[in-house]
Amino acid sequence: MKADVAVLGAGIVGTCVAIHLARRGRAVTLIDRGEAGGETSFGNAGLIQREGVAPYAFPRAFLKLARYGLNRSLDMRFGWSALPALAGPLARYWWHSRPSEYARIVRDYAQFIAHSVSEHAPLIEESGAGNLIARDGWIDVYRTRRAFEDEQAEAEDQRALGVEHRVLDAGELARLEPALAPVFVGAIHRTQPWTVRDPLALTQAYLRLFKSLGGSFRRGDGMTLREDGDGWQVQTDTGPLRAREVVVAMGPWSDNLMRGLGRRLPFFVKRGYHAHYRPRDGAEQRHAIHDEAGYVVAPMAAGLRLTTGAQFMRRDAPPDPAQVAACEAAARPAFPLGEQIAGSIWMGSRPCTPDMKPVIGPGHRRGLWLATGHAHHGLTLAAATGRLLAEMMTGETPFVDPAPYRMDRFR
Ligand SMILES: Cc1cc2nc3c(=O)[nH]c(=O)nc-3n(C[C@H](O)[C@H](O)[C@H](O)COP(=O)(O)OP(=O)(O)OC[C@H]3O[C@@H](n4cnc5c(N)ncnc54)[C@H](O)[C@@H]3O)c2cc1C
Repeated sequence: MKADVAVLGAGIVGTCVAIHLARRGRAVTLIDRGEAGGETSFGNAGLIQREGVAPYAFPRAFLKLARYGLNRSLDMRFGWSALPALAGPLARYWWHSRPSEYARIVRDYAQFIAHSVSEHAPLIEESGAGNLIARDGWIDVYRTRRAFEDEQAEAEDQRALGVEHRVLDAGELARLEPALAPVFVGAIHRTQPWTVRDPLALTQAYLRLFKSLGGSFRRGDGMTLREDGDGWQVQTDTGPLRAREVVVAMGPWSDNLMRGLGRRLPFFVKRGYHAHYRPRDGAEQRHAIHDEAGYVVAPMAAGLRLTTGAQFMRRDAPPDPAQVAACEAAARPAFPLGEQIAGSIWMGSRPCTPDMKPVIGPGHRRGLWLATGHAHHGLTLAAATGRLLAEMMTGETPFVDPAPYRMDRFR
């Protein structure tokens, strides 16, 4: 079997890359060891975060760090047994989060994430996935006046980066979301983002679009990738595939493959969990809502999906759903959560880099490309990433500056 390009990993990122390459006339085979969209892209909170211009920095204030260190917060937890392995990347993450460097990162990131919704829009349209999408933003809710005021100030500053919002007092929030208990002092409605009611179904709709453009999907193991003459070879369930070029889009498993190819990347993961709940007494929650306490409750096709913040842990360590239980305990008095749907607890790993930016562009060997490391924003940035990488691979002028995302920024 032959292809111009083999894309390894059919998460939302790899599938979008495959679509953009197929659209440019490349013969593309998309390869995954499982079903398309079945891993990290399955379990997220479904937010296409147009407002996410400021990626999540590592806390630098001592009191905050101490609180996180004691695992008292819902949004960030540490698995201390993993510290020896994580210390290096976390130290670099802390370093990149210093104010001067972070401001530079935000400037670059804001230009890219500005295209998040507008790049998904045509793919959603062409793949017939419009019924999976709500186009009326999501809501941040606050329990303390101080956090509410701080966030309003930040939201005002972000207008300069093209991010819009509206402030809701407690009464306005109650009118917009009558199913919430009156425990919040106010809210910020992020009006530009779109939300996805079934992230797995979105990737699968995109896969069908890719196939309609002439692309093919195969089961196979990306870890079998080998250089072969002037191209690459990878094993699939239907035999070896040769391709001139290859794209590594294996999400949190990408660094395993890169290490095998002789390049260590300073990757780490932030694990996260979700669980589904039936709405209590048939109550309707209209928007995805982020509680300042550190979790999201989003209305999804399968029920209300509660997603947790970050757990710093080794990717392959056994799941520890204590964070789900703690988020559920905080959410129950405020959100219309009924019984938990049996078997719905899920864990996934956000693929992260120390400078909070994805890796998009050429690798260290001829014909090797990367589209990975999207951390909290892989769904958000997938369509824009697909376009950017396809433009680089086909020699078009990239629609945003690709320099901040190059792999060789890591020495
Ligand atoms: C709890 C949680 C909530 C989140 N919420 C949001 C959100 O609201 N908005 C947002 O934008 N992002 C969110 N994210 C992040 C987002 O889900 C990820 O950034 C994104 O899914 C990464 O996509 P991907 O395609 O790179 O990785 P994946 O979806 O993991 O895809 C990688 C693919 O590679 C395949 N693969 C791995 N190894 C091999 C191999 N050896 N051979 C073949 N195939 C292989 C896997 O099977 C998988 O299908 C969240 C993440 C979590 C954990």
